[in-house]
Amino acid sequence: MQTITTSEPRIELIKAASRFYQQGWMVGTAGNLSTRLRDGSFWITASGCSKGELTFSDFVRIYPDGRIESSGNLKPSAETSIHQCIYNLFPEAQACYHVHSVEANLASGLAEGGKLPLPSLEMLKGLGIWEENPCCLMSVFHNYLQVNRIADEIKQRFSNNPPKIPALLIRNHGVTVWAKSTVQARNYIEILEYIFRYMVAARQMQ
Ligand SMILES: [Zn+2]
Repeated sequence: MQTITTSEPRIELIKAASRFYQQGWMVGTAGNLSTRLRDGSFWITASGCSKGELTFSDFVRIYPDGRIESSGNLKPSAETSIHQCIYNLFPEAQACYHVHSVEANLASGLAEGGKLPLPSLEMLKGLGIWEENPCCLMSVFHNYLQVNRIADEIKQRFSNNPPKIPALLIRNHGVTVWAKSTVQARNYIEILEYIFRYMVAARQMQ
Protein backbone atom coordinates (compact mmCIF):
# COMPACT_ATOMS: atom_id res chain seq x y z
CA MET A 1 0.00 0.00 0.00
CA GLN A 2 1.36 3.36 -0.96
CA THR A 3 1.90 5.85 1.82
CA ILE A 4 0.99 9.36 0.86
CA THR A 5 3.33 11.91 2.35
CA THR A 6 3.18 15.61 1.80
CA SER A 7 4.86 18.67 3.16
CA GLU A 8 1.99 20.95 2.18
CA PRO A 9 1.69 23.15 5.27
CA ARG A 10 -1.91 24.16 4.57
CA ILE A 11 -3.11 20.62 5.35
CA GLU A 12 -2.40 21.07 9.06
CA LEU A 13 -4.19 24.42 9.08
CA ILE A 14 -7.25 22.92 7.37
CA LYS A 15 -7.34 20.04 9.86
CA ALA A 16 -6.93 22.34 12.86
CA ALA A 17 -9.61 24.76 11.62
CA SER A 18 -12.07 21.90 11.12
CA ARG A 19 -11.36 20.64 14.63
CA PHE A 20 -11.73 24.10 16.19
CA TYR A 21 -14.88 24.74 14.15
CA GLN A 22 -16.44 21.57 15.56
CA GLN A 23 -15.58 22.76 19.06
CA GLY A 24 -17.42 26.02 18.41
CA TRP A 25 -14.22 28.08 18.54
CA MET A 26 -14.24 29.11 14.85
CA VAL A 27 -17.92 29.59 14.21
CA GLY A 28 -18.78 30.94 10.77
CA THR A 29 -15.71 32.71 9.44
CA ALA A 30 -14.27 33.58 12.86
CA GLY A 31 -10.63 33.20 13.77
CA ASN A 32 -7.50 32.80 11.67
CA LEU A 33 -4.63 30.34 11.49
CA SER A 34 -1.19 30.73 9.93
CA THR A 35 2.06 28.85 9.51
CA ARG A 36 5.45 30.21 8.52
CA LEU A 37 7.60 28.69 5.80
CA ARG A 38 11.39 28.48 5.46
CA ASP A 39 11.58 31.52 3.21
CA GLY A 40 9.97 33.69 5.91
CA SER A 41 6.60 33.89 4.15
CA PHE A 42 3.49 32.54 5.84
CA TRP A 43 0.18 31.04 4.78
CA ILE A 44 -2.84 32.53 6.51
CA THR A 45 -6.55 31.83 6.20
CA ALA A 46 -8.27 34.25 3.83
CA SER A 47 -10.90 36.66 5.03
CA GLY A 48 -14.52 35.52 4.93
CA CYS A 49 -14.06 31.75 4.51
CA SER A 50 -16.01 29.27 6.60
CA LYS A 51 -13.50 27.58 8.88
CA GLY A 52 -15.32 24.27 8.91
CA GLU A 53 -14.63 23.47 5.27
CA LEU A 54 -11.43 25.19 4.13
CA THR A 55 -9.63 24.16 0.95
CA PHE A 56 -6.13 25.02 -0.33
CA SER A 57 -7.55 27.98 -2.22
CA ASP A 58 -8.89 29.58 0.99
CA PHE A 59 -5.43 30.80 2.00
CA VAL A 60 -3.24 33.75 1.23
CA ARG A 61 0.55 33.71 1.32
CA ILE A 62 2.24 36.79 2.75
CA TYR A 63 5.89 37.41 1.92
CA PRO A 64 8.32 39.34 4.14
CA ASP A 65 8.37 42.20 1.59
CA GLY A 66 4.59 42.51 1.86
CA ARG A 67 3.83 40.72 -1.41
CA ILE A 68 0.61 38.71 -1.35
CA GLU A 69 -0.09 35.48 -3.24
CA SER A 70 -3.57 33.98 -3.54
CA SER A 71 -5.45 31.83 -5.98
CA GLY A 72 -8.14 34.43 -6.58
CA ASN A 73 -8.94 37.88 -5.38
CA LEU A 74 -8.90 36.73 -1.79
CA LYS A 75 -7.94 39.10 0.95
CA PRO A 76 -5.80 37.95 3.85
CA SER A 77 -7.47 37.75 7.24
CA ALA A 78 -8.28 41.13 8.74
CA GLU A 79 -6.03 40.17 11.64
CA THR A 80 -2.94 39.46 9.54
CA SER A 81 -1.04 42.32 11.21
CA ILE A 82 -1.21 40.44 14.53
CA HIS A 83 0.35 37.34 12.94
CA GLN A 84 3.05 39.50 11.33
CA CYS A 85 3.75 41.12 14.68
CA ILE A 86 4.04 37.72 16.43
CA TYR A 87 6.39 36.30 13.76
CA ASN A 88 8.58 39.41 13.99
CA LEU A 89 8.71 39.30 17.78
CA PHE A 90 9.32 35.56 18.10
CA PRO A 91 11.68 34.18 15.41
CA GLU A 92 11.18 30.62 16.70
CA ALA A 93 7.41 30.77 16.05
CA GLN A 94 6.35 28.66 13.07
CA ALA A 95 2.60 28.76 13.65
CA CYS A 96 0.16 31.33 15.00
CA TYR A 97 -3.43 30.34 15.79
CA HIS A 98 -6.29 32.60 16.82
CA VAL A 99 -9.83 31.47 17.73
CA HIS A 100 -13.00 33.05 19.13
CA SER A 101 -14.62 31.06 21.93
CA VAL A 102 -17.39 31.97 24.36
CA GLU A 103 -15.25 30.95 27.34
CA ALA A 104 -12.24 33.05 26.27
CA ASN A 105 -14.51 36.08 26.11
CA LEU A 106 -16.03 35.40 29.52
CA ALA A 107 -12.57 34.80 31.02
CA SER A 108 -11.24 38.03 29.49
CA GLY A 109 -13.78 39.91 31.61
CA LEU A 110 -11.93 38.70 34.74
CA ALA A 111 -8.73 40.53 33.73
CA GLU A 112 -7.50 43.54 35.63
CA GLY A 113 -4.96 46.06 34.41
CA GLY A 114 -4.34 44.12 31.21
CA LYS A 115 -3.50 40.90 33.05
CA LEU A 116 -5.52 37.75 33.63
CA PRO A 117 -4.30 35.51 36.48
CA LEU A 118 -4.53 31.89 35.34
CA PRO A 119 -5.44 29.21 37.93
CA SER A 120 -2.47 27.06 38.98
CA LEU A 121 -3.65 23.97 37.15
CA GLU A 122 -1.55 20.98 36.08
CA MET A 123 -2.45 21.91 32.49
CA LEU A 124 -0.09 24.92 32.68
CA LYS A 125 2.81 22.49 32.23
CA GLY A 126 1.62 22.05 28.67
CA LEU A 127 2.34 25.75 28.16
CA GLY A 128 5.86 25.42 29.53
CA ILE A 129 5.17 26.46 33.15
CA TRP A 130 6.95 23.94 35.39
CA GLU A 131 6.45 25.39 38.86
CA GLU A 132 4.49 24.36 41.92
CA ASN A 133 1.50 26.66 42.36
CA PRO A 134 2.67 29.01 39.61
CA CYS A 135 1.55 32.59 39.39
CA CYS A 136 0.88 33.01 35.70
CA LEU A 137 -0.49 36.28 34.37
CA MET A 138 -1.80 36.25 30.83
CA SER A 139 -1.57 39.48 28.82
CA VAL A 140 -4.92 40.91 27.80
CA PHE A 141 -5.28 43.60 25.11
CA HIS A 142 -8.06 46.03 24.33
CA ASN A 143 -10.10 45.07 21.27
CA TYR A 144 -9.48 48.18 19.16
CA LEU A 145 -11.53 48.43 15.98
CA GLN A 146 -8.32 49.09 14.04
CA VAL A 147 -6.47 45.77 14.25
CA ASN A 148 -3.14 47.51 13.55
CA ARG A 149 -3.55 49.29 16.85
CA ILE A 150 -3.83 45.97 18.66
CA ALA A 151 -0.70 44.75 16.84
CA ASP A 152 1.17 47.95 17.81
CA GLU A 153 0.27 47.46 21.45
CA ILE A 154 1.36 43.80 21.37
CA LYS A 155 4.70 44.88 19.90
CA GLN A 156 5.14 47.59 22.48
CA ARG A 157 4.33 45.42 25.47
CA PHE A 158 6.14 42.24 24.42
CA SER A 159 9.30 43.91 23.04
CA ASN A 160 10.24 45.08 26.51
CA ASN A 161 8.57 42.33 28.48
CA PRO A 162 8.20 38.94 26.76
CA PRO A 163 5.24 36.98 28.11
CA LYS A 164 5.68 33.91 30.33
CA ILE A 165 3.40 31.83 28.11
CA PRO A 166 3.22 31.94 24.28
CA ALA A 167 -0.27 33.36 24.22
CA LEU A 168 -2.34 36.50 24.55
CA LEU A 169 -5.97 37.37 24.92
CA ILE A 170 -7.93 40.17 23.26
CA ARG A 171 -10.79 41.31 25.44
CA ASN A 172 -14.22 40.06 24.32
CA HIS A 173 -12.61 38.73 21.16
CA GLY A 174 -10.44 35.63 21.52
CA VAL A 175 -7.11 33.98 22.22
CA THR A 176 -3.94 33.91 20.10
CA VAL A 177 -1.07 31.44 20.52
CA TRP A 178 2.25 30.92 18.75
CA ALA A 179 4.45 27.83 18.69
CA LYS A 180 7.36 26.02 17.06
CA SER A 181 4.98 23.80 15.08
CA THR A 182 1.37 23.56 13.99
CA VAL A 183 0.88 20.57 16.33
CA GLN A 184 2.17 22.54 19.29
CA ALA A 185 -0.03 25.54 18.40
CA ARG A 186 -3.08 23.25 18.29
CA ASN A 187 -2.19 21.86 21.71
CA TYR A 188 -1.75 25.35 23.16
CA ILE A 189 -5.19 26.39 21.92
CA GLU A 190 -6.78 23.27 23.41
CA ILE A 191 -4.99 23.75 26.76
CA LEU A 192 -5.98 27.40 27.03
CA GLU A 193 -9.56 26.71 26.09
CA TYR A 194 -9.63 24.06 28.85
CA ILE A 195 -8.27 26.65 31.32
CA PHE A 196 -10.89 29.22 30.24
CA ARG A 197 -13.66 26.62 30.64
CA TYR A 198 -12.33 25.84 34.10
CA MET A 199 -12.29 29.54 35.05
CA VAL A 200 -15.87 30.06 33.90
CA ALA A 201 -17.06 26.92 35.72
CA ALA A 202 -15.18 27.89 38.90
CA ARG A 203 -16.83 31.31 38.79
CA GLN A 204 -20.28 29.71 38.57
CA MET A 205 -19.57 27.66 41.71
CA GLN A 206 -18.81 30.73 43.83
ZN1 LIG B 1 -10.31 37.51 15.76
